Amino acid sequence: MSNHSERWRVSPGGHVDLAKEPTNSTDGAPGDKAETAEATAELTLKLAELQTRLWAEGKRSLLLVLQAMDAGGKDGTVKHVFTGVNPAGVRVVSFKVPSELERSHDFLWRIHNEVPAKGEVGIFNRSHYEDVLIVRVNELVPETVWRPRFEAIRNFEQNLADEGTAIVKIFLHISKDEQAERFQARLDDPSKHWKFSTADLDVRKKWDDYQLAYADALEKTSTDDAPWYVIPGDRKWYRNWAVSSILVDTLDALDPQYPPPEPGLDEIKIV
Ligand code: AMP
Ligand code: MG
Repeated sequence: MSNHSERWRVSPGGHVDLAKEPTNSTDGAPGDKAETAEATAELTLKLAELQTRLWAEGKRSLLLVLQAMDAGGKDGTVKHVFTGVNPAGVRVVSFKVPSELERSHDFLWRIHNEVPAKGEVGIFNRSHYEDVLIVRVNELVPETVWRPRFEAIRNFEQNLADEGTAIVKIFLHISKDEQAERFQARLDDPSKHWKFSTADLDVRKKWDDYQLAYADALEKTSTDDAPWYVIPGDRKWYRNWAVSSILVDTLDALDPQYPPPEPGLDEIKIV
């Protein structure tokens, strides 16, 4: 794995203090905004090639978990980082407030159903982590219920990893000021009104509680086989480059291979 990915990785068992983690750094970037965007475009091509190989190989899968505060850039990251990737092998799943049916099962039931099949790249826009974040902050269930979920999550993800899924978990870390700016932009631009929800303001009021819940979740569930990465998210161009770098690093390490051809293809003549 390159040094780039290491820079943002939460070491297993390590302590996380999000107040000390920068939201606007451009550490390690290959240059200014324009130069970094160019490097990202190259990574996008690599990502597309690696994804084609993963799909052709059909033996392993990649799961990207994206978590962030509202307006943290989850949708923008998906849109930019996966530009040019063959949609056939990629699936984005957005997890919303659970339905009655989903709530009548254990919290991982709806998640397990959506994990990527062999050959696929799965992208979770929100995830099972909501069950230790909003659920914890809003006290939707008692601590005796959400606390054991850290271990359940570690076991669940370990099982996925053991069965051939590479897992990348990314927390897009923005500042409270940056969120205010992005909310304002959503209010000012009619074409962005649909992205704004007044409920987001209630969540914003609990900013500190969420930061603590996030830190705890990152600490308790970053493992060798399912690491968390904290990405400074205030600058979108840096964020896109960072996420692209991690995905390319991860797929490079998997080194997916095209399957061997049927024997005798070189003797075939199409008439
Ligand atoms: P959005 O991502 O803006 O479409 O909003 C989805 C909403 O669903 C967010 O407010 C999430 O916190 C909420 N949500 C997602 N998963 C859960 C969950 N397991 N329990 C409660 N709320 C959830
Ligand atoms: Mg929203």
